[in-house]
Amino acid sequence: MTGVKNKNVKRLLEKYKEISLLNKIQAVLDWDLNVNLPANASQGRANQTAYLTGLVADKWLDEEFKALLTEITETDKDLEDTERAIVRNLKHAAKFYHRVPKEIIVEKAETTSKAFMIWQEAKSKNDFKSFAPHLEKIVHLNQIIADHLISSGQGNRYDALLDQFEPGLTTKQCQEIFFQIKTSVVPLLKKIKASKLYQQQQAAPLLSGEFSTNDQRQLSLFVLRKMGYDFNSGRMDISSHPFTSTLDRYDVRITNRYKPDNFVESIMVAMHEGGHALYELGVDESYSDTPIEGGVSLGIHESQSRFWENQIGRSEEFLEFLMPILYAFYPDQLNNIDESRIISMFNQVNPGLIRVEADEVTYNLHIALRFELEEALINNKIEVQALPQLWKHKMKKYLGVLPPNDTVGILQDVHWSYGVFGYFPTYTLGNLYAAQFTDTLKKEIKLEELSKNGQLGTILSYLRTSIHQYGSLYWPDELIKKVTDKPLNSKFFVRYITEKYSKIYQLN
Ligand code: MG
Repeated sequence: MTGVKNKNVKRLLEKYKEISLLNKIQAVLDWDLNVNLPANASQGRANQTAYLTGLVADKWLDEEFKALLTEITETDKDLEDTERAIVRNLKHAAKFYHRVPKEIIVEKAETTSKAFMIWQEAKSKNDFKSFAPHLEKIVHLNQIIADHLISSGQGNRYDALLDQFEPGLTTKQCQEIFFQIKTSVVPLLKKIKASKLYQQQQAAPLLSGEFSTNDQRQLSLFVLRKMGYDFNSGRMDISSHPFTSTLDRYDVRITNRYKPDNFVESIMVAMHEGGHALYELGVDESYSDTPIEGGVSLGIHESQSRFWENQIGRSEEFLEFLMPILYAFYPDQLNNIDESRIISMFNQVNPGLIRVEADEVTYNLHIALRFELEEALINNKIEVQALPQLWKHKMKKYLGVLPPNDTVGILQDVHWSYGVFGYFPTYTLGNLYAAQFTDTLKKEIKLEELSKNGQLGTILSYLRTSIHQYGSLYWPDELIKKVTDKPLNSKFFVRYITEKYSKIYQLN
């Protein structure tokens, strides 16, 4: 990397490059696992991954690397801004390897690989009891890990877990955010449900007909090209859970899934994953293989995917642009269906049981519930055994729906079986960042007009200049202030969602 003068930082970069390359090799294996792997190959792949994971851990624990990192401090006056960011990111990432004992990391890996299989079975059989003891162990291991991560010896365990995914995020901040979301979105949802349009939509499905996989794929490819996704540096494959994967600076791939009775979802998935990919593909090239490559946090990453999916993809203006193409693709299926109905298909509010199927209005309520349960579990305020009942209670209270069983309730998400706690809130943060970025963007460029004309390239170049190019140079709280002049504030999201859906559902 050019511009780095400090000799210790230079040496750290040389050492880190090996970690970065190993992580990218791992990404190839993971992508292949999720897209191509033959059934009999899973044990072999697990062995390969375990071996690579060990190699990566050894690199972090390398004596010279550790000594260099201990010696250097972020506040060192001799460091340039870029060097400071490199040191800060390395110290942040190294915390896990340097503070958590290796036995705990190994125990967690073993516990979760078993728990994942038990969870799959428990979910299919609606049998929370069989998963409960594994979840208890996972919670306990996360508490131990949090205790090691807390530097001063005292502090909120859940803060330590949040910080792994969104540097600096705290429980208190989350509590304020979710309080504001609940107090504004729950009443909004009640009004929507009482509206005439909502009642009509519930009476008959908005969308029917068959939409071939190939047509859906072509539509997705068209939209992605419009967004500026370069297929010489990526590709779109199929997987049951769509994802984006960075295999290299010039190889950022996405996946999609196609339902034969719904063409809306795959377009939205393409825009969402495309948004993640464009972020990674827009980072300053000189950051490649350094600790400031790639998106800065899960929350900022999700803001880029949500922005393309929601603020652009579901907007009236963009849908106006897309409309003739949709009619051309589906002349029979969309015959006699007017434009306003098609806009409704992309923006229907439908409070349901499943998070991944949730609309823009209800999505964060699903996250509020998960945050509250996670925080209470990690800080020993509730027991694992109580989860199914608490889940049902909160679903009823926030969304007005009652899960008939645990399969579509407490057992629906994979995250806890993976051992991941503190991850869910970053989904909501992404929605909040996206709304706040959009507020600024609208003052700087003619977002509506550009969307209406399909000039998405202009939107991308604005994002590249103001956000993408920086990769992980700025921490999330610095970046949001740099772009919008203000710290993160949920009022932008609340205003966006209230204005948009009051208009759609004609609320007064
Ligand atoms: Mg995402």
